[in-house]
Amino acid sequence: MPDNKIFLHEGREKSLLRHHPWVFSKAIEKEDSSLGGGSRVTVYSHEGNFLCHGIYSPNSQIRVRALSFDENTPCDNNLVISRIKTACSLRQKLIERGNDGVRLVASEGDLLPGLIVDKYNEFLVISISSWAMEIFKDTIVSALKDLFPQSSIYERSDTKSRLKEGLENHCGVLYGEEPAEVIYVKEAGSVLIPVNIKNGHKTGAYLDQRASRIRAGELSRGARVLNCFSYTGGFGLWALKGGARAVENVDVSDTALDAAKQGVVVNHLDPGRCRFIKKDVFEFLRRQVEKHEKYDLVILDPPKFAESAANLKKACRGYQDINRLGLELIAPSGRLLTFSCSGLMTPELFQKIVADAALDAGVDGRITGTLRQDSDHVVALPCPETFYLKGLEITVL
Ligand code: SAH
Repeated sequence: MPDNKIFLHEGREKSLLRHHPWVFSKAIEKEDSSLGGGSRVTVYSHEGNFLCHGIYSPNSQIRVRALSFDENTPCDNNLVISRIKTACSLRQKLIERGNDGVRLVASEGDLLPGLIVDKYNEFLVISISSWAMEIFKDTIVSALKDLFPQSSIYERSDTKSRLKEGLENHCGVLYGEEPAEVIYVKEAGSVLIPVNIKNGHKTGAYLDQRASRIRAGELSRGARVLNCFSYTGGFGLWALKGGARAVENVDVSDTALDAAKQGVVVNHLDPGRCRFIKKDVFEFLRRQVEKHEKYDLVILDPPKFAESAANLKKACRGYQDINRLGLELIAPSGRLLTFSCSGLMTPELFQKIVADAALDAGVDGRITGTLRQDSDHVVALPCPETFYLKGLEITVL
């Protein structure tokens, strides 16, 4: 195997010494300009000290993804297989607790940068978004077949970051059967969540919000609940299961709302207690404020508003607007569950935005809980970017 050497500028080795897996193009002093995507490389400091073995990506700002920080452990099939096994074993407890939809591999979180593997019942869905994992695709599929011999494997490699890497999208069955348009996975042994593997967001569902959906269920007895950015209605289903008196699900997507409606039927919940509203959340919230409507629980789970550092300011305004409107709609002793899945939004900044929103709304409230991505979306200790989904539970006084 050729040893392609990359040298960094002086002083640019610090993050690699802490085992952060990204080598940015700007940190590189010397590289072979003919290196192709997927080449195995070894990265050295300016002084020539070994830093990591990794995989090269010529078009991405993240020029190398480090897989091994041990000089004697090369980036090979064995390394990838052993990381997949470790990742799966970390999720065993969650599966045993009655969760049939689980993230088995969480990319950088599991030291497999650019690889997602989600398990929905007997379907495994893989999404590859980096050269680093693309070159191991056959190895990944064969490891998953060994670990889950009864499962089918479907690929959803259609992410924006994949295009940035210069890789073409690829979706379809890799092994076994084709999934139906919508399937249902049991969450915490209780609620069936609709999943659209072939055409849904991400790999079909937002598994990261499992713990917060369960929390919404706990807060819903007798409540009037507003579920904003509902997607396929997960929070709303948990609220109904928890005894909500009425649930309004708001989303712009017809397909998502149709799946949410079906979810109510499949869970044998009362369709008379819920509404599905196809509307822009900003507009809907404004209208409800004008009408002086009040709710006992408002959920705000928007898509990623901050895609890049350049639009963080604009994103902050968006978060502040919906939180102000949401808080204005809450009855005394009611609660807000509010989230940001933008990696660029720190928990401190998010709290400040919600605090400003409360001031603007003239609402006094307290943080009575903090929420975050569920435990299968593991966080790698040296890679804070893997902690991306944060939330606050605010109780209005
Ligand atoms: N809470 C969901 C996931 C939400 S994903 C769950 O637990 O499964 C974000 C959703 O917001 C998507 O379904 C998308 O269609 C919707 N969306 C994005 N912008 C919107 C807007 N301005 N108004 C209403 N819905 C919007």
